[in-house]
Amino acid sequence: MKKIAGILVSLGIAITSYSAVANELVFNGKLTQGSLIRGQLPAGSQITLNGETLKTNSQGKFVFGFGRDADLSHSLKWTLPDGTTHSRQIKLEAREYVTQRIDGLDQKMVTPPESVLKRIRQDAANVYKARAGKSDSDALFTGFIWPAEGPVTGVYGSQRILNGKPGRPHYGLDVGSPTGTPVVAPVNGTVTLADDLYYSGNTVVLDHGMGVFSTFLHLDSMGVQVGDTVKQGEQIGTIGSTGRSTGAHLDWRINLNDKRLDPQLLVPPRD
Ligand SMILES: [Zn+2]
Repeated sequence: MKKIAGILVSLGIAITSYSAVANELVFNGKLTQGSLIRGQLPAGSQITLNGETLKTNSQGKFVFGFGRDADLSHSLKWTLPDGTTHSRQIKLEAREYVTQRIDGLDQKMVTPPESVLKRIRQDAANVYKARAGKSDSDALFTGFIWPAEGPVTGVYGSQRILNGKPGRPHYGLDVGSPTGTPVVAPVNGTVTLADDLYYSGNTVVLDHGMGVFSTFLHLDSMGVQVGDTVKQGEQIGTIGSTGRSTGAHLDWRINLNDKRLDPQLLVPPRD
């Protein structure tokens, strides 16, 4: 356990045990940009973040998350079953993201051929749909495991500045391992997409419940189908370089619906 910004962070430790003792707000996660926070209140409580209601399940569990460039000040307000109201200000630690400047580039735009634009739009719509749900499963209220063996070769939030123009940030956590390396579910989930997409190649989306989704890109093989349920550690496919990829690696993403979060904040440290 280590303490970050005054909040006890228990990486990899189940917080489901809080349910018996929860007579106040408890939550788990790093208070920083890109972070997924898992929290709990006594069952029957209501809670808002910056005025927006967070969905709580029957045990009073809820999640919220902060995007890559989220504001640093946030306000939680909650009402306990006894009717009392409470509030707490949250201060996030600002992050610095890896940026790489590349100058003197040939300005030629890499535009996909007209013939594939329709497919790209359809892919995006399918992925959006696959990450739209908010199931009641609280599978994610436990420690995440790494979905693959191998070194980290790309991090969340990183950005290339091409000829002075910032490119789209990279939202995945890249693990570099050879084609065929197993990819496993980091936590229990239900498959909501398993398809070959133009950019991301063989792509699997797992619904972990409460609006939290994992997406695995560029897989060589997919061992699951839409509707399958998978347990933490169960193989869902293998690492590959399908789609527009320059080499074998796993690109793992975490979404809270359409908000992109940092997978690396959920797993134990790795070099
Ligand atoms: Zn990547």
